Amino acid sequence: MSQHPEFSFQSRKNEIERLQNNPSLVFDLLVVGGGITGAAVARDASLRGLKTLLVEKGDFASGTSSRSSKLVHGGVRYLEQFEFALVMESTRERARLWKLAPQLVHPIPFLFPSYKNSRVPLWKLAAGLWLYDILAAFRSPTMHRTYLKERCLREEPAMGGDGLTGGIFYWDGATDDSLLTLANIIDAREEGTIALSRVKLESMQLKSESGAAPHEFVLLDPIENKKFTVKARSLVVAGGPWTDTLLGQTGLSFRKMMATTRGSHIVVPHEKLPTKHALAMTHPVDGRVLFTIPWGEFTVVGTTDIFDEKPPEQVAINAEEVDYLIKSTLHYYPRYPLKSSDIVSTWSGLRPLIAPPDSEGASQISREHHLEWRDAGVVVIAGGKLTTHREMAEETVDLLLRKAASWKNPLGKGFIPSKTQHRSFPSLIYPLQKGFIPEHRLGQSEASQLSLQDLKNICTTQMVLSIEDLFVRRTQIFYKEPYNGWLLLPKIKKTLCEALRWNDSDWEQSLASYRSYIETNVLIPLHRKLPEHPTS
Ligand SMILES: Cc1cc2nc3c(=O)[nH]c(=O)nc-3n(C[C@H](O)[C@H](O)[C@H](O)COP(=O)(O)OP(=O)(O)OC[C@H]3O[C@@H](n4cnc5c(N)ncnc54)[C@H](O)[C@@H]3O)c2cc1C
Repeated sequence: MSQHPEFSFQSRKNEIERLQNNPSLVFDLLVVGGGITGAAVARDASLRGLKTLLVEKGDFASGTSSRSSKLVHGGVRYLEQFEFALVMESTRERARLWKLAPQLVHPIPFLFPSYKNSRVPLWKLAAGLWLYDILAAFRSPTMHRTYLKERCLREEPAMGGDGLTGGIFYWDGATDDSLLTLANIIDAREEGTIALSRVKLESMQLKSESGAAPHEFVLLDPIENKKFTVKARSLVVAGGPWTDTLLGQTGLSFRKMMATTRGSHIVVPHEKLPTKHALAMTHPVDGRVLFTIPWGEFTVVGTTDIFDEKPPEQVAINAEEVDYLIKSTLHYYPRYPLKSSDIVSTWSGLRPLIAPPDSEGASQISREHHLEWRDAGVVVIAGGKLTTHREMAEETVDLLLRKAASWKNPLGKGFIPSKTQHRSFPSLIYPLQKGFIPEHRLGQSEASQLSLQDLKNICTTQMVLSIEDLFVRRTQIFYKEPYNGWLLLPKIKKTLCEALRWNDSDWEQSLASYRSYIETNVLIPLHRKLPEHPTS
């Protein structure tokens, strides 16, 4: 089980102390942002021999990268916007991830139904899916298939049949976005990257235009409440929706880059919405494409797409979005009338989209990524998709190495091609891989199918620093367990306190912060209350 090296509060502490005690240490590269983009850049860079430091102000993937629809997909809906290059890139990367990270990314069957008055008629869907298969170079497990009404209802009996003309069956991919991010981080560490969570880039002093003198960066460790300075010759900004804020800190001139849109999801027990396929739905009110996605013993419905300029830390679903998502399920699954009281959990994220020159509707903005270089050795990588993270990272490090090759003292060993195209991802402790064994559960749902030893191993090899890290991003307990796992806490208190060397006050602090996470994402939007404080 614990085949991975220690990656824990203790290793973090040691690494920070090492940096504090060696102020003359110079990194080739500082990556700011431990979402999927920054994690992949650190992995690619360290595999090419760059001495790399990554800092993430929260937990790894705690920004957008744990709040996606968890699909590794080509994006059928982008065909309507003629984004063929993006679909080609995404389907190529999808096939690669199926091969290189089979324990984290797997194919799932989709059905895209069409009704008499649907915005997209069946013939158009069929034409689109031909194009999808072609752009994917036929790398799906099977080609798409057109089903007429009877076959559709046989394959997906929960769906409503009134006015149904047929549907298209096709394949896309599903993943665990947080763990995929973590797998990138763990592999980067294996190649020498120092990756620090809960370390914030506070300020920076960029020194030269040609990599001659290293830049200085002031970092804050909020756990010890200590600031320290590190040096690096180049910087990659991978700040997702925080990109504009970070660019402001560089002191260089950048145009405002981001147009962030909020996307929200709800999670319900599978028996309330027993879909067998992921269903692609055009919303009955505005015609947008959204999905119901089977998720083990649960079903996810999402997503919305609404411009939102609030600080990313405050993103959460609201009551209108809950109604909007439920309305779509009532249309497609009329025999399964979903209610807000069926919802077990929700999540929301901000899409770090690149602002177009003209104003466009949220769903029309391209999901392409944007890469920008400054002579000081600063690269900005923003936008894009979870699906295309590997390729985005490859392009980022290519650009950095090419530009730095003209410096008097180039970075690393000069230009070396990326090594990630054929490199498998490390497998992580993922208890669901054991299959579903109800009696092995700590709680009631599949997400709590963990022994106390599993929990301990996750804490010490996957950098857990809080209950939220463990329940939201290492396991799916927050999403799937009744009361978001609140009632499990007394059972695991001793194990967690031992593994993380917490005293009672540390425990109480983490408990309060987890409660606040549940309040923001579930209790307030759904007008609910938690049972009493679990202390014993
Ligand atoms: C609702 C929704 C659904 C989506 N669904 C899909 C999907 O199904 N498939 C797909 O391919 N893509 C999907 N996406 C897109 C995908 O999730 C994002 O493109 C991707 O996660 C962005 O990752 P990132 O690393 O660029 O940003 P983030 O994950 O946000 O990472 C940026 C990180 O920078 C850190 N940071 C910021 N400031 C500092 C600082 N000063 N110091 C240190 N760290 C800092 C933040 O804490 C954050 O963790 C979806 C997005 C949303 C919102």
